[in-house]
Amino acid sequence: MKILITGGTGLIGTLLSEKLINSGHSVRILSRSKQDIPNIEVFEWNTSKNYIEKGALEGIDAIVHLAGAGIADKRWTDARKREIIDSRVESLKCIIANLPKNHNIKTVVGGSAIGYYGGNTGENLMDENSAAGKDFLAKCTILWEKEEEKLAEVLEARLVKIRTGVVFSTRDGAFPKLIAPVKLNLGAALGSGKQWISWIHEDDLVAMFEKAITNNNIEGVYNGVAPEPVRNDVLNQMAAKILNKAYFLPKVPGFVLKLALGEMSVVVLGSSKVENKRKILDRFKYPTLPMALENLLK
Ligand code: NDP
Repeated sequence: MKILITGGTGLIGTLLSEKLINSGHSVRILSRSKQDIPNIEVFEWNTSKNYIEKGALEGIDAIVHLAGAGIADKRWTDARKREIIDSRVESLKCIIANLPKNHNIKTVVGGSAIGYYGGNTGENLMDENSAAGKDFLAKCTILWEKEEEKLAEVLEARLVKIRTGVVFSTRDGAFPKLIAPVKLNLGAALGSGKQWISWIHEDDLVAMFEKAITNNNIEGVYNGVAPEPVRNDVLNQMAAKILNKAYFLPKVPGFVLKLALGEMSVVVLGSSKVENKRKILDRFKYPTLPMALENLLK
């Protein structure tokens, strides 16, 4: 298959591109900057100018939408919130506006996030049928998924939406930041430490995306999370144990993080306990936290 990945230069896009190429597919990406990436066709786009480089949407079988400004990269000012939404939603509108007349796009795999259920859902276990939340993360994800639905409708294509949890990868994303203090012998729970983290190992997430792209029986919403969410303090303790590092009982107080991060503190302090009731994978390579940490940290 020939697969177009928006935001293909990012963490998930890079891992997915490698996997798809290894499986014999061709990968094309849409990026805001022209660059040479081995074995990948890179096309430029500028969504605020409704510009997509000529030919980018021709000859492809599937679109995977992963473009989006980083959720936890900058403080959530009104302007940043707009950017977080627009980079996910206006970019899809730009694709719809630039679709060629004769296309053969049969599949849309929409990136999405467990933020759909809200950033802080406490002890409640969420599945694909749970209601959407009401905070900024939820509002953003609802708009993002709605526009993915529009694209699939216009294309008359199969749509899979993967609501991804925190991706555990040593390459980038949240995991290296979570583990950095542990490596420095400064591992400690954030806030109460009791908040749930719904995580997934990079290999399992990428396997989900690949199956979603290639298997016509997969359709609808799936949570991209491992079977066992973990509490923040357990993650820190387990990482410290595997790395043979100290673990401090004193915690990084929640109010300090709230002051430093503002509304965005929900990303680290919010509790998100999510399961995948709908299965894409027959089995996970890293179903438990010890298995994932042993792989990523050793
Ligand atoms: P990254 O931040 O690593 O990459 C996203 C890509 O989007 C970038 O490489 C960039 O590509 C493009 N991008 C960044 N800012 C903008 C912008 N303002 N306008 C348009 N494009 C932009 O994300 P991930 O690969 O980690 O995640 C992909 C998607 O999955 C994102 O929507 C993310 O929110 C979601 N997700 C990720 C999780 C994770 O733990 N990683 C968890 C849950 C959801 P370029 O510079 O080439 O244009």
